[in-house]
Amino acid sequence: MAEELIIAGQTIAPGQNKVVDVPLPDLYMHTSLSMPVQVMRGRRDGPVLFVSGAVHGDEIVGVEIIRRLVRSKRLKGLKGTLITIPVVNVYGFINQTRYLPDRRDLNRCFPGSEEGSLAARLANLFMSEVVHKCTHGVDLHTAAIHRDNLPQIRAALDNPVVEEMARSFNAPVILNSGLIEGSLRHACQQVNVPVIVYEAGEALRFNELAIRAGVRGVLAVMRKLGMLAESRTKHVKPVDPFVARSSSWVRAPQSGIFRMLVPMGAQVTKGDILGMVAAPYGDEKSETKVVAICSGVIIGRTNIPLVNEGEALFHIARFNRPDEVADSVEAFNTNLDPSTDTSAPEERPII
Ligand SMILES: [Zn+2]
Repeated sequence: MAEELIIAGQTIAPGQNKVVDVPLPDLYMHTSLSMPVQVMRGRRDGPVLFVSGAVHGDEIVGVEIIRRLVRSKRLKGLKGTLITIPVVNVYGFINQTRYLPDRRDLNRCFPGSEEGSLAARLANLFMSEVVHKCTHGVDLHTAAIHRDNLPQIRAALDNPVVEEMARSFNAPVILNSGLIEGSLRHACQQVNVPVIVYEAGEALRFNELAIRAGVRGVLAVMRKLGMLAESRTKHVKPVDPFVARSSSWVRAPQSGIFRMLVPMGAQVTKGDILGMVAAPYGDEKSETKVVAICSGVIIGRTNIPLVNEGEALFHIARFNRPDEVADSVEAFNTNLDPSTDTSAPEERPII
């Protein structure tokens, strides 16, 4: 007999697919609010996986990943349960901002508490209604506003289940990253629910490649966990992900107008010129080079050319074989190119 699954007072039976509205504190103009949670329960018992989006309210790539995921025909024959929460930070999402109306970062407020701040209450609700019912999780993020991330997994690889999930996602890069106090990932680890974070694209924008890689990645994790049958279509070459040893930020040496000279995913060598920062008028003496402080691969960068001294411009990850990583990023981009990729025929690409 499968265990009973109840979310916000509603029972979801094996074989059922249901959207449950988890009630949240009202908006101040008395509008009631809820967090929609879609529960797809297979007839057969298996892992219970949550997939969450927009914990940071403006990181909307995950919302589209989840929309495509729940419509995917590949979920047929699901074993276990898929619980998707496209928008966790409903307040931030409405306001198109990362934060909650109390200016807190939800991803620093987990596990939260019933009597705490608005953020703490939302975190607590998510833990009790979602995380505590789950065996595994994938949390979907993007870079912060005006920045872009190469599709990457962030995970604490000292946990073998986490490592297995991270590798099976097939993002080109894995950052073995520690757990930040107050993050959802940290709170999940405390209650023994292995979670990986997928970071791809930028806030308030859609990026077709980041979305496709996300949908495909979650499905691959589900196959690895035994929730879906192995894919019969072998035309997709799996990417062998590379694990970064560490990463560093290259910061603006001065304030000014920034010209970026290397693309995302590029391999760089310590001392390479990555860009120039100059005054808005044509004084050549005011121009300063932005230099790579280490060798590696660009996994994140700013996309606003107006910079203040000290602002993070590039995120460089260090690898043992950076040349191979750069090749693999290229292969990954080609694999997911909407004009040649026929693995998701039901979706028209966002251009
Ligand atoms: Zn985020």
